[in-house]
Amino acid sequence: MANWMKRLALHFEKTKRLHPQETLMILFDIDGTIVDMRTLIQYVLREFDRVHDTEFFQDLKVDDITVHENHVNELLDQLRIPKDQHQRILDFWCDHRWLPSSLMEAHRPFAGVMEIIRWFQMQPNVVVGLNTGRPEYLRADTLRSLNAIGEDFRVSFSSEHLYMNPGDWEQGVARSKADGVRHFRDSGFRVFAMVDNEPANLAAVFELDGCEEILPLHAHTLFESECGDLPYCSASGSDYILSDLAAEDDLPDDVQFVWHGVNDRANLRQFLGSDVEWAEIDVRTDGDTGELILRHDSTTPDEEAEFGPVLKLDEVIRRLIRFEKSIKLDFKEGGPVVDRVVGMLNEEGMKIEGQRLWFNGNVEVLEKDGFEKLRRAYPTAIIQCPIDSHIERLDDAPEEVRLLLSRLSSQGVSRFSIEWGRPELFQVLSKLSDWGFETNVYNVPDLDSFLQVVLFKPCSVTADFNFPKWHYYGHGSGQGDEYHHYSMEENGSGAA
Ligand SMILES: [Mg+2]
Repeated sequence: MANWMKRLALHFEKTKRLHPQETLMILFDIDGTIVDMRTLIQYVLREFDRVHDTEFFQDLKVDDITVHENHVNELLDQLRIPKDQHQRILDFWCDHRWLPSSLMEAHRPFAGVMEIIRWFQMQPNVVVGLNTGRPEYLRADTLRSLNAIGEDFRVSFSSEHLYMNPGDWEQGVARSKADGVRHFRDSGFRVFAMVDNEPANLAAVFELDGCEEILPLHAHTLFESECGDLPYCSASGSDYILSDLAAEDDLPDDVQFVWHGVNDRANLRQFLGSDVEWAEIDVRTDGDTGELILRHDSTTPDEEAEFGPVLKLDEVIRRLIRFEKSIKLDFKEGGPVVDRVVGMLNEEGMKIEGQRLWFNGNVEVLEKDGFEKLRRAYPTAIIQCPIDSHIERLDDAPEEVRLLLSRLSSQGVSRFSIEWGRPELFQVLSKLSDWGFETNVYNVPDLDSFLQVVLFKPCSVTADFNFPKWHYYGHGSGQGDEYHHYSMEENGSGAA
């Protein structure tokens, strides 16, 4: 059976095509679908130890837990906990599992699920709803804990889009799930998919009229009901992989994309054939001829054999202009090179509006003088510098960092670039955005990391576009020897 996220992608596209004017909704169950219940079990059992000064669960790891949350008694057997302790441990578990403190402390989402939810929340006319068997009295605590774990992913849930069980715990859950779907339909949403870890819930929803348009997605985590209950058309999976779901057409319109290292014929050809707007080219002088050429760093004879001789800046600019592309020039040298580039852009056939120009360079390379010159020549261009070394001090000396960035702004810099892969990238991006600065993320190595960055919505993302899943084969500037080791088989295209 096809991958469940790919089935979801196809079904989403089809629903959008059939109902372009409607607000679509995808529904998620919470426990065992978004939230990993094993973490809650581990947390409450360790609380038991703490309160009672016992050591039964000190070594209990999340991966050791293979039972549904309603069968913790089986776990106690597996762990060989003395029989005479079972009842009081189970009582403690039942009393503590839904306390607000447990929800806040022990809610962990399954890997990837928040990214999937964020992706849908970014799509126009799509709402993510929650359809849970939890009773109504947990409404406020449920929203508080889910919004706390959602914050790092820019995910938020609202009460309006949360349907809860009007009954008590475990009472009529499957019926309540069907009522939840009916409720959202009556509120004007076209429900197109529902994700739940209990087959019986998906079965109940599938008995509703007109449910053929709802794709039942079974989260194959820990569940109680029988897999045999699953509707025949359901898709099942346990990995939430955004790159299986996300389509190029659904990328947000308000993030700019830059193809990194368009310095050789192979990359240039692929870039020109793509919908990507911006080409980043690396500018320096040729040590022998003094001409302006495109090169990231020293080219090895092997690379020259593979990608051809170095390209001249003026030739490439003419070509990019002819293809109506926008140009990001990365200065590898400053000083006179800045004047030569500005001069070149004034030559016949090289003129291009400022909004389609973007200049990047390290502070040490371009210096105040270089930034100011570029800003004077192109008041509307993007002028950018990387600030990774300064970001290191963001926690200790935020005010110092803010003043430094303000000073660079006054010299003409309009965007700050941050390398992908640093911990807490999202917090850094939101801090800079709170301060009113534009941000770019660079050195994004593959499709999964590219999509993750897109979810954070910086102003722009600079990537190698080495995305075989999307049939992009960019190799960036070729650093690290990792750049184009892929095979056509990875695509499932079967080409030799
Ligand atoms: Mg569940």
